[in-house]
Amino acid sequence: MTVPIRNHDIAELRRLDLAHHLPAQADHRLIASLGGSRIITRAEGSTIFDGEGNAILDGMAGLWCVNVGYGREELAKAAYDQMLELPYYNTFFRTATPPPVKLAARIASKMGGHLSHVFFNSSGSEAVDTVFRLARHYWKLKGQPQRRIFISRWNAYHGSTVAGVSLGGMKAMHAQGDLPVPGVEHVMQPYLFGEGFGEDPDAFAARAAQAIEDRILEVGPENVAAFIGEPVQGAGGVIIPPEGYWPRVEAICRKYGILLVCDEVICGFGRLGQWFGHHHYGVKPDMISMAKGLSSGYLPISATGVADHIVAELREKGGDFVHGYTYSGHPTAAAVALANLDIIEREGLVERTREDTGPYLARALATLNDHPLVGETRSLGLIGAVEIVREPGTNKRFLDKEGEAGPVVRDLCIRNGLMVRGIRDTIVCCPPLIITHAEIDRLVSIIRRSLDEAEPILRALKPE
Ligand code: PMP
Repeated sequence: MTVPIRNHDIAELRRLDLAHHLPAQADHRLIASLGGSRIITRAEGSTIFDGEGNAILDGMAGLWCVNVGYGREELAKAAYDQMLELPYYNTFFRTATPPPVKLAARIASKMGGHLSHVFFNSSGSEAVDTVFRLARHYWKLKGQPQRRIFISRWNAYHGSTVAGVSLGGMKAMHAQGDLPVPGVEHVMQPYLFGEGFGEDPDAFAARAAQAIEDRILEVGPENVAAFIGEPVQGAGGVIIPPEGYWPRVEAICRKYGILLVCDEVICGFGRLGQWFGHHHYGVKPDMISMAKGLSSGYLPISATGVADHIVAELREKGGDFVHGYTYSGHPTAAAVALANLDIIEREGLVERTREDTGPYLARALATLNDHPLVGETRSLGLIGAVEIVREPGTNKRFLDKEGEAGPVVRDLCIRNGLMVRGIRDTIVCCPPLIITHAEIDRLVSIIRRSLDEAEPILRALKPE
């Protein structure tokens, strides 16, 4: 079906945006100085179009979420049909509706193993909040109420709510709102390029895992509720841990009887070439949070996967778990998620990412390694990163400071027709899982051209 292209008055939208809208995660002074936001008006496949008519290859799948790409009529139809039949009903007070029940069973079959139940929420942050409250509630039911501490990593991203920011390891976020809340401990991240440059990857993995065990021993294992981590850190800069890291983390959690939680909000639904990121690393978490790719961003929906032994505790001990949202199990969002999973399965997007497009992206990114500004390229499945450095073969940044080069290269990429993010000095990409080889070639060639254009600008930088 061809959707008619609507005309928007972009100048008026930008005026209204400044007059009335506070966009998310934004520097409001900067946006005002630039005359308002870039207005994205439509999208098709892996391409977004802005109000000025520019076609931009969406190297970020929206915000790490549009796994099946844009323009899926099937998903619009699923929402339309469900809205006419039953747009909304809740799951409080012993009620349920067909879509979330079917979706729970479908997700359970994808999670496999002892992860047999899901709790629905709307956003990734809420899925993490559910982890936070359920883990502490579980330990109370188990008669170990002192197990309240969560161990997380610096530079982790677990959302923007109070619990999400607290569990996350972003210092700038902690500074706004007097966070973290008590009971969260942060340890080093498994960032080989940044924190173990030149170190043997396995020795580094052992060192990063040891930091977790050390902290557990410091605070007392009997006080620790859970460890939480993204299989691959996304918003922290696409940090792909060395292979030996996760099995060691799992062993440490088991040794001290601590719950293992994987935040799969980005890694879930095919991103790493498996249904879930923890499947790639071969570990068995006790809870997982998922969102984004669950509905490919077409409607907000998230879920928290819960292991049998936690569900058994809730069932045996009884009493209300007084937690949940108006939109927990939203029928229309769940119907869209079901149709989205149909597409992922029918088009084999998980396998294609693992066997075809993921390795293709890795090879394409690796061609950038000869560029004088590139310190490393890395990817797993369809999530990747390019590290920008002052001298090749090192991890030295421009002006010996983080964050000088990233925004320059990112802005050039966008101007050259590619949406990517610059996280400090790391250019990251996370394209829709439907991306083609030709589009991957274009993605990489735009990064190269943008690096070429950035080089004279960056080499001319002078300390203030
Ligand atoms: N966890 C992870 C790993 C994420 O990447 C994100 C979002 N980028 C969140 C949680 C929070 O999700 P949301 O923005 O939907 O609240």
